[in-house]
Amino acid sequence: MSSIINVLDETVINRIAAGEVVERPSSVVKELIENAIDAGSTYISIDIENGGKKLIRIRDNGIGMSNDDAFLALERHATSKLKSEKDLIGVATMGFRGEALASIASVSRLRLVTKDEREPQGMDILVEGGSLKKADRIGAGRGTIVEVRNLFFNAPVRAKFLKNRTVESGHIHELVLRIALANISIGFKYSEDGRIKIESPPVNSVLDRIASMFSRDVRQNLIAVDHSLQTMRVHGFVAKPPYARSTMRSTLTFVNRRPVKDRLVNAALNRAFTGLMERGRYPLAVLFIEVSPEDVDVNVHPQKNEVRFLNPTSVADLINQGVSQALYDSPYTTVANPGPFTRESQKLPQEKPIRKFTAKHLQESVFPEVKPVESGIAVSTTNSQAKVDLTQSTAYSDLGIIGRIPDSFIVLHDGEDIIFLDQHAAHERLVFDSLLQARNFRNDIQSQNLLLPKVVSLSPVEAQSIRSHKEILASSGIIFEDFGPNDILIKACPQWIAEADTEDVIRDLAGTIMETGMKPDPESLVIEIFKTLACKASVKETTPIQTEEIKALLKALDANRSPRVCPHGRPLTVKIPLTEIRRRLGRSS
Ligand code: ADP
Ligand code: MG
Repeated sequence: MSSIINVLDETVINRIAAGEVVERPSSVVKELIENAIDAGSTYISIDIENGGKKLIRIRDNGIGMSNDDAFLALERHATSKLKSEKDLIGVATMGFRGEALASIASVSRLRLVTKDEREPQGMDILVEGGSLKKADRIGAGRGTIVEVRNLFFNAPVRAKFLKNRTVESGHIHELVLRIALANISIGFKYSEDGRIKIESPPVNSVLDRIASMFSRDVRQNLIAVDHSLQTMRVHGFVAKPPYARSTMRSTLTFVNRRPVKDRLVNAALNRAFTGLMERGRYPLAVLFIEVSPEDVDVNVHPQKNEVRFLNPTSVADLINQGVSQALYDSPYTTVANPGPFTRESQKLPQEKPIRKFTAKHLQESVFPEVKPVESGIAVSTTNSQAKVDLTQSTAYSDLGIIGRIPDSFIVLHDGEDIIFLDQHAAHERLVFDSLLQARNFRNDIQSQNLLLPKVVSLSPVEAQSIRSHKEILASSGIIFEDFGPNDILIKACPQWIAEADTEDVIRDLAGTIMETGMKPDPESLVIEIFKTLACKASVKETTPIQTEEIKALLKALDANRSPRVCPHGRPLTVKIPLTEIRRRLGRSS
């Protein structure tokens, strides 16, 4: 009987392996940059065409390969990085399985040009779909060029799963950004279809690297983070809450210098920003988490984006504490002078009126460095209305006070725009922050004993919700005792609640607890309780307030960390540009 088992030939094996290593153009870029880093390069340039589908070219000035090694490198399980099994422990280099180049070569037209120090000439090898097509000696400097053309040309099914140019290059751009932040001593240049997107020389500090990749507006509004817990450390930068983004792409986190996209890390970071950002926004952050290598498994995910921590709770605490503290220590400060227009804005057509940067703008820029966000960027005003204003560059106390519309908003101006400020939302912001701050740093909120304890009658469900959260409420300054089956007796509460309608506050809190109580995370319940308290304690829209009080409010907002949104994430102000009013009044300019 003849055998039905075939030994798979090398090319087929490589194509199967390619399925694991090569998912899309960005995975090719990742493997090739990691090789260049491993080769000790100090300068790496990356060019892609058509989202990497047509071409990926990586050039480096690393140690290069000898003529013989160049061939070996293209073979599966050929690696210079592992000699025996014991090397597997404490792997320091990025790649170590020795299959990337072979896998990539099996699903593309790959050209490898490389030369090391000892060879008089370099080697130029062309491989198509895994078979060697050409090999020549070539004059070349030390280092390596890998060109990958027509990815998946021989794997039509895989090719079909690739997304369009924008999506694929978006992945690559983000990847290069992350790698460049994690390797500041290496210079990077990245271009898409001939347009340079990242150009950053070797630098000495993360801040310098950020400076070369993010817009000035972001740069000027970064807060440094540096916090240690046990043997772990988190350090880096977060942008002030108004600079939060509409996608998670600018949340750039690293564990032991490896770029990661980890749910636990992101959740801990987001928690520190709770109540400071609008809904649906994500922190702009560059954060390095350092844990000892035995406390983390980085090889959980084949793309090595996810990690598994031995002690996830402490890692979450580390990040949350570090970022919260940095945010508290740094009140919102204003960008004093937005400076001259950028090249970007000068290129825009002349007839479009110049207008200040708006929130919409922020959402539109996928990457912080692509569109500088300094004010002065022109926006078409054809369908313009009042704009929500999250990154206004003027301090609140520098705004002119026009007055207050009875039972409604405070009206201000900055010389170019009329600004409507929501006094209730603004006050809420301030109360919420003082609650959070008290909790984070003193752990008790000033509470005063009521001369006459107050009985509050509740429904059975309400009573149950309130009673089962006695401790959390006590930490918010509300002290009560049970009083009959469904009633409670309030003995002490924060002063500003005493002034409001206590019963009302307690019922609202019961409602909040019922709504959020389902969530397992007690922290988010506290936050929800604080939001409710802040709302109750704040002046109503209809409360008349005097000019002196308005001034005090504006000053307090300037000292606040997130003076552009209320704790529920609603904006505090909208502005209407005077240009808009002129236009409506039929004035030409
Ligand atoms: P691995 O990185 O896991 O070893 P690869 O297939 O990515 O496997 O690379 C195979 C080998 O080729 C590497 O071990 C290294 O010796 C060599 N190599 C690959 N890229 C480069 C480069 N840019 N510069 C120098 N040597 C390289
Ligand atoms: Mg490799």
